[in-house]
Amino acid sequence: MKCFINGEWTSLNKQMDVIDPFDSSIIDTVPVATRAEMTTAIDYAVTGAQTAKAMPTHQRCQILRDVADLLLARSEKFAINIAREGIKTIREARGEVRRCAETIRIAAESARTIVGETINFDQMPGSENRIGHFSRNPIGIIAAITPFNDPLNLVAHKIAPAIAAGNAVILKPHTETPLSALMLGELFHEAKLPKAVLQIVTGVGSVIGDTLVTDPRIRMVSFTGGRATGEKIIARAGLKKIGMELGSNSAVIVMADADLENAVANTVSGAYWAAGQNCLHVQRILVQDSVYDKFKQNFVTLAKGYKVGNKLDEDTDMGCIITESAAQNIEELLTDALDRGADLVMGGKRDGTLFQPTLIENVPEGARLHQEEVFGPVSLLYRFNHLDEAIEILNNVDFGLQHGIFTKDLSTALDASKRMDCGGVIINDSGDYRIDAMPFGGVKGSGLGREGIKFAIEEMTEIKMVCFNI
Ligand code: NAD
Repeated sequence: MKCFINGEWTSLNKQMDVIDPFDSSIIDTVPVATRAEMTTAIDYAVTGAQTAKAMPTHQRCQILRDVADLLLARSEKFAINIAREGIKTIREARGEVRRCAETIRIAAESARTIVGETINFDQMPGSENRIGHFSRNPIGIIAAITPFNDPLNLVAHKIAPAIAAGNAVILKPHTETPLSALMLGELFHEAKLPKAVLQIVTGVGSVIGDTLVTDPRIRMVSFTGGRATGEKIIARAGLKKIGMELGSNSAVIVMADADLENAVANTVSGAYWAAGQNCLHVQRILVQDSVYDKFKQNFVTLAKGYKVGNKLDEDTDMGCIITESAAQNIEELLTDALDRGADLVMGGKRDGTLFQPTLIENVPEGARLHQEEVFGPVSLLYRFNHLDEAIEILNNVDFGLQHGIFTKDLSTALDASKRMDCGGVIINDSGDYRIDAMPFGGVKGSGLGREGIKFAIEEMTEIKMVCFNI
């Protein structure tokens, strides 16, 4: 495929292969843009931002609605592509396409409700004859930088609210998974989005991503990815708005009074969805003492039935890791825990990019897996007696995206949700639950700002105040 620059599908000098990480087959090629080529895209975006700002709301709504319809009409083609270039099974990929259409529809509807407020100036003595209001306005050019694990829907979570809010956006999709984003770009083109409002430039993150981040004409960097990259970007960005959707080391608490069947089913799914390559991956599972053994047994029974393998087979439950070196990193974190004395309950084996669903327990203090994000199908079991103990373990990490708790007791649920340091608490589902309209984002090392269309629109607009002296 080609880059989408100034409304044209553009070939560039250098190309790279896009590879299926399951069998290393070449799916397609995409351009590798240089810094100068990215700068050219930013030049076009200056005009694109003027065009975007001048687009009436009804036009933005219509384009977004049309894109959602086009996507649903071609959903299987998109799902197959997600499954091939990325890490998801075909069934998981179909779910992502459905969610993406929903994300774009929510953006179309939200564009109608970007409103301001009137201000009571007469609250200040001497200002009795002032009236005024504030409005929310586009901020200009937004740089969107996205990860590999949801190569379509996380792209939509940036470009749909950016366009709904009247901005121009330049997207740099992940190096390993650029095709879903380019295919989505084709739909915006077909829906007649004016040129340079959306541009998609492929290449190496540390090169063209850095060009985007450091250019003073970019008014906001909306980033989803790893914490280390996020910190580099913040250090390089200068005076810009920043949205940071980073990783985590999420936990669920299973209380003794929980519906155990529900807790097991949701926790297994949260642990091994997308082969654990999910910012909401359930990495730490804290189970109350009296149900620990039963929970463990039922968890293992369910997870052992998982079929790992070819992402395109309908009966595959878990796909592969994005690259062999990423799979080796997961193995290294697991080996560190086992070498320190942790017990392997299930799994633990790697074959190329395939990694078995893995569960460990009795993980000694100091093991890296307590603190670091594994971003793979490895989870840790913890035993606790009292909720206080569970909350202490849960909060004792420098991440805080979303956690879950399973209990039938309302006051336990409310008490725990108050005390968890994170951006979202999910009760009676694992922390791996999300709809695209809810506020989403983390505290501590998990990020800055919130996505979820309405909330992203707030981040992607600036307030202007107008005051009349009558
Ligand atoms: P990554 O940080 O390796 O890459 C993310 C993006 O940044 C890619 O497009 C990459 O090319 C680009 N990039 C790399 N170096 C750059 C630089 N110097 N300047 C600008 N851009 C640069 O992350 P990844 O491996 O794709 O994704 C995994 C991480 O993303 C995990 O930590 C996961 O938890 C997190 N994540 C978070 C959310 C969320 O919503 N909070 C969602 C999905 C993934």
